[in-house]
Amino acid sequence: MTLVARRIRVTGIVQGVGFRPFVWRLARQLELVGWVRNDALGVDIFAQGEATRIDTLLQRLRGEAPALARVDAVHAQPVEPETLTEFTIRDSIKGRSSTAIGPDVATCPDCLAELFDPADRRWRHAFITCTHCGPRYTVTRALPYDRPQTSLAPFPLCPNCEREYGAPSDRRFHAETTCCPACGPKLELLDAHGLPVAGDAIKETSALLQSGAIVAIKGLGGFHLACNARDADAVARLRARKSREEKPLAVMSANVASLAGYAMVSGAERALLEGRERPVVLLRKLPETEAALAGVAPGLIWLGAMLPTTPMHFLLFHEAAGRPADSGWLAEPQELLLVMTSANPGGEPIVRSNEEAHARLAGIADAYLQHDRDVVARCDDSVLRPLGQDHQFIRRSRGYAPTAIALPRNGPSVLAFGAHLKNTVCVTRGNEAFLSPHIGDLDNAATCAFADETVQRMLDLLEVKPDIVAHDLHPDDYSSRAAFACAARHGLRTVAVQHHHAHIAAVCAEHGYDEPVLGLALDGVGLGTDGKPWGGELLRLDGPLATRLGHLRPLALPGGDKAAREPWRMAASVLHELGRNAGIGARFQARGADTVAAMLARQLNCPRSSSMGRVFDAAAGLLDLSSHMKFEAQAAMRVEQAATRHIEVFGWPPPMGNGWSISSDGRLDLLPLLASLDRASDVDQAAAHFHATLVAALSEWVMHTAQTQGLRTLAWGGGCFLNSLLSSGLRQNLERRGITVLAPRRLSPGDSALALGQAWVAIQSLEQ
Ligand SMILES: [Zn+2]
Ligand SMILES: [Zn+2]
Repeated sequence: MTLVARRIRVTGIVQGVGFRPFVWRLARQLELVGWVRNDALGVDIFAQGEATRIDTLLQRLRGEAPALARVDAVHAQPVEPETLTEFTIRDSIKGRSSTAIGPDVATCPDCLAELFDPADRRWRHAFITCTHCGPRYTVTRALPYDRPQTSLAPFPLCPNCEREYGAPSDRRFHAETTCCPACGPKLELLDAHGLPVAGDAIKETSALLQSGAIVAIKGLGGFHLACNARDADAVARLRARKSREEKPLAVMSANVASLAGYAMVSGAERALLEGRERPVVLLRKLPETEAALAGVAPGLIWLGAMLPTTPMHFLLFHEAAGRPADSGWLAEPQELLLVMTSANPGGEPIVRSNEEAHARLAGIADAYLQHDRDVVARCDDSVLRPLGQDHQFIRRSRGYAPTAIALPRNGPSVLAFGAHLKNTVCVTRGNEAFLSPHIGDLDNAATCAFADETVQRMLDLLEVKPDIVAHDLHPDDYSSRAAFACAARHGLRTVAVQHHHAHIAAVCAEHGYDEPVLGLALDGVGLGTDGKPWGGELLRLDGPLATRLGHLRPLALPGGDKAAREPWRMAASVLHELGRNAGIGARFQARGADTVAAMLARQLNCPRSSSMGRVFDAAAGLLDLSSHMKFEAQAAMRVEQAATRHIEVFGWPPPMGNGWSISSDGRLDLLPLLASLDRASDVDQAAAHFHATLVAALSEWVMHTAQTQGLRTLAWGGGCFLNSLLSSGLRQNLERRGITVLAPRRLSPGDSALALGQAWVAIQSLEQ
């Protein structure tokens, strides 16, 4: 027998996921001596024993890691044997970090079994957690991930919890957020005036919800506003108090079985709903749901649904089910369905602390179900849209952020400030890119402050000092101004990245694609290199460089920004372009139609944009599907769902052969197609025809450019690709013609991915 000793370094997501007890159990099994500890680089192991057993240890470290771990690398170095008699777990070492904090995870089955077992000491304990589940990102102040660095620091462990925490064989060994009713945080229910409500907080909350009240409920990344989704009056009250007219609300159900009467759930959708990330998933509504859940997602054929994330959510459903004495009810359909919407009044960031809730939700919430475990960092719900067997992110946040995205290669550290709307920020370290959770639209002071806070938090958590700062080309956006200020403070270089260039670069980065590529950006708006608003662009990307090869025929936006909120204005713009200006006043008798016709005639306050988003708006206006939008992209969604209704029954119609033209300088003109929509008698069919023709036109445009450029790979991005008819139709068409399509998978096609694209362009530009 040969006795050897190895110093082993494990990197990846290896802290706070039960990695040390896993190593401890393995080492004991293999009769090795030594120790394991966390340090700033990840997990540090000293193992000593028979050579073949050390080899087995190295293999099993990779192959059998705990569920929440992600092992990126295992490096072993020979060292001198020491006189040790057993294998132990040592205290953590602090220092410069190269590890990462994991995302928050929904309550695991083991914890659920205890939660509903009346004999368990954690029966109905709203903060039950173990190394396999519970909060991470939202409770962590700094790395390494140890209890004193989390918001559980003020809750010293009781003797029972201490024993579990110290026992390597226990599921709660070094579970940094573990606690029990004796030592953990406390739930409390307060009324609208902030006064405590007597009795059991879960029981009383349940009663309030049943009676139609709106309750602010503290979740993982901030407060939700909840009400009974089947109580139309409560939903209407919530909308009125939140000043949210038509934007869809998400619902939470106890399980997938409880959704059966409201929406269709495929196998792939079920897997998304039940995943430990617990996103909101957009499901196809059943026809009767419009009335059964009146006001929840009015006028839409989709319903956003999620399953419980925290023990507190589960307890509310448990209570409504009559507090059964085992876990069997978890699989059975339950009546209770809750509206769960982020508490973010006025478009400001989600409410985080109890004090903030009482101040900002006064007049909205009838009661507050809260506790004394702080939310250290805000994190909104993630939202996914199924796409066949796959899915697209509408918002990548809780459960996913800040999991790293692997870049094609190592590079300098970049801090990228992202887009103006749906802002996120991105920090890179080595070959990893860390995208922050959703921050929001940077059009109010509170969201801008949240962006600043998030930048600092990401840099602190990752212990990165950036080498370069990246930002959008628009110099006046808050994100750009923050980038300039940061660069000036630290004496750093800045790189400005054009909006659509960043969209395509983000997709290349997540696919690890590092070759020249064709890019198709279909989007609302972004400032172009010529100072004009762009949004329907064909680009060529070569390393850090982007060339504009083509664009949509620019349309006038009568009234500028107003045109992006009032689709009838875009319809008027199309009629003007078609030489039908005289008919605009009569066609749109909405207030101001004559003025808009005059503005168009004289081209006053009519900036021109190549935006695809505005083409969808024009289509909605011409089809009379939307005149004034109540939320972003509402018009485009209506065109898509009208087409979906038609295609589900009749299949795709053939495209309109003469619906478009492509000029020799690469300009795609969709005017003939738009002209055909005006006053269509069958709106659903016309919308389907619009999609079919759009797919054919874009395909020809791409194929033509691919040929002249000698490129066979296309990356696409931009919010318009959230339209699943467009995405799936175009993919099918192009793949049939031999084009390789790179589409956003781990990030949204929308502006929230922009920070990653900016970062990747900055890395490439430094290498030039
Ligand atoms: Zn658990
Ligand atoms: Zn305890």
